[in-house]
Amino acid sequence: MKLYEYQAKQIFSKHGIRIPNGRIAYSPEEVGEVAREIGSEEVVLKSQVLVGGRGKAGGIVISNAGEAAFKSRELFGKDIKGFKVEKILVEEKLDIVKEMYVGITLDRERKGVVILVSSVGGMDIEEIAAKFPDKIGRKTVNPVWGLWDYQVRELLYEAGIPKEYFKDVFGVIKKLYGIFTRYEAELTEINPLVITSDGKLYAADGRLNVDDNSIYRQKEMAELKELTGSELEIAAESKGINYVKLDGNIGVIANGAGMSMATMDLIYLVGGKPANFLDIGGGASSDLVKSSMELIIRDPNVKVVFVNIFGGITRCDLVAEGLVKAFSEIDMDIPVVLRLAGTNEEEGRKIIENYMRKNPNKLVLVRTMEEGAKKAVELGGV
Ligand code: GDP
Ligand code: MN
Repeated sequence: MKLYEYQAKQIFSKHGIRIPNGRIAYSPEEVGEVAREIGSEEVVLKSQVLVGGRGKAGGIVISNAGEAAFKSRELFGKDIKGFKVEKILVEEKLDIVKEMYVGITLDRERKGVVILVSSVGGMDIEEIAAKFPDKIGRKTVNPVWGLWDYQVRELLYEAGIPKEYFKDVFGVIKKLYGIFTRYEAELTEINPLVITSDGKLYAADGRLNVDDNSIYRQKEMAELKELTGSELEIAAESKGINYVKLDGNIGVIANGAGMSMATMDLIYLVGGKPANFLDIGGGASSDLVKSSMELIIRDPNVKVVFVNIFGGITRCDLVAEGLVKAFSEIDMDIPVVLRLAGTNEEEGRKIIENYMRKNPNKLVLVRTMEEGAKKAVELGGV
């Protein structure tokens, strides 16, 4: 579960990390209200979408407080990397003199929690690592022992944090690690962590992704959950489809979580990016297959759909019927790559081949997953 910036910041603030003064708004009128409430000359309008790099994509706008409502009209409804802006975080504009970075995540290879700190921030961590490799500190924390103070001090030195900010940044790292463990997070990040002209440290941005498997015991998260699912995710949930939106452009339909994951891995391997994770589960009906296709093509980023089915209890003929239903009833001009294997494979292929004879459209039938992933990338899924 990914939290929106404004939600992550509320949690940061609750645990003693300073955040800018501000509040979430759902309409231009409300933006105006919050801007007046804040009382600063200038405010920052921050689109609340669950994707990074909003700044570069035009999702962050600095405005005079008086013009904030007006300026927000352009931001509401705007598409930021495939996500529609429906809420805006309005904050006092900080007078930033330095941007830094703190991130904490799980690292399977190192079998621990990895903390990254940099005295350079405001760009993504991959870019920082490439451009300023000597300005990054990295530590692996054994979750049983927890984070030692000496590790934090080493991080500050390695990252090249200026001495005068040591004490404050030390505090933020410790607090952020506390939040990471307390909320059973998979990732948390402050980028940028900023120093303002009056020497204060603020979390100017915030990310917090919590492990879905722990939500049941994270009462606060359960309360926030309603607000976080995107429109499509909510639509999928109501149909019993397990759907997660991602930011690539190859739509993926597969059966079973393992199959869906393997399909996504393969797409990455051949140089593409999945637009989503969609698992139709075992024993899917043809109607469910049709609904899945409808759902997937509502995402404007999807340029090609890869349907990868390995029939066990799922019957390939039913999947084929569902696809034919989808093609005949939905107006879609997106190419579809289909791999059918397993139970009733031949029946399924026949249904598809029959359909293709009458309707030579952009459906491509392949034999293997590898072939399918490559084909999907070839057909525009880069
Ligand atoms: P992201 O692009 O999605 O990571 O969004 P951020 O919240 O990190 O904002 C992008 C950039 O906008 C930051 O790196 C800052 O440089 C800038 N920014 C955000 N808030 C403020 C602010 O209060 N004052 C100033 N001067 N810049 C800001
Ligand atoms: Mn950021």
